[in-house]
Amino acid sequence: MKLYLLLILQLCISPLCESKQIAITFDDSPRKAEGYFSGPNRAERLIKELKSHEIEQVAFFSNSNKLNAEGIQRLQAYSRAGHIIANHTHNHPDFNKMSLDDYVQNFLLADSKLSQFKGFKKLFRFPFLREGNDNKKRDGMRDALKKHGYINAYITLNNYDWHIETMFQAAIEKGVSVDLERMRKFYVQVMMESIEYYDEMAQANLGRSPKHILLLHEMDISALYVGDLVDELRRKGWEIISPGEAYTDEIAQYQSRRIFPYNPGRIGEIARDRGQKKGLWHETLDKKYLEKRFSEEVLNRNLEN
Ligand SMILES: [Zn+2]
Repeated sequence: MKLYLLLILQLCISPLCESKQIAITFDDSPRKAEGYFSGPNRAERLIKELKSHEIEQVAFFSNSNKLNAEGIQRLQAYSRAGHIIANHTHNHPDFNKMSLDDYVQNFLLADSKLSQFKGFKKLFRFPFLREGNDNKKRDGMRDALKKHGYINAYITLNNYDWHIETMFQAAIEKGVSVDLERMRKFYVQVMMESIEYYDEMAQANLGRSPKHILLLHEMDISALYVGDLVDELRRKGWEIISPGEAYTDEIAQYQSRRIFPYNPGRIGEIARDRGQKKGLWHETLDKKYLEKRFSEEVLNRNLEN
């Protein structure tokens, strides 16, 4: 018996016993809402889901051009619930198609408009994760972030949750009755596949599981299923941490010298720099692949034929 206990203790001081850590972030808030939920209902549901699943703090990367009365109310509600409001530019430009000067102005405009919120923090998330398609732009934005006291709020766990939302809303609009239980399973399954994939890539390249940052969007499926996703993560041994804590990981200091016109996320950058060329985007980051699975797993099309 004693030996058995000793063995467990030994295992628990090894990295095997440490839980994997993940912070949750939502982009594009206050994102368009006119499908399953109204904007205010989505915000209410999302806050409730986070609270009931004891997720103390997440970050909302927001676009300041959406700050009409309702948009302001939604961000205020997130802020009051203890969450972070952060900068995702004014109107979500593609840095590959915009000059450095215009991009910096866009970022600063968002800074001036978003700083009104109590939960505002100087974290910047690049739209489309595009950090500049030449050295001048990339280094120029790195300098601008530093000058204004910001950090680059990179992500480590990439996915196409926004396309799952598009398929979900399109089905509803067409009058298809979507089985919410199937939808829940599909969402959790697809998200877990991409999370585990990038964690394995991280472990292969870093020799450890870093403090991860999950990219989600402020959407109806997030409000519906983020709690289920968190339940599944915890069931598999993950711990939910705050975004602030996640950015203390040493990979936050990592700066690739490479130009990534299309950025797979921080783990993909590190893997690419170490020589990996294929598989930087997981198979679930593919519209056609997701459409096929949505059709089979949610709409059950394979059984109807
Ligand atoms: Zn975005």
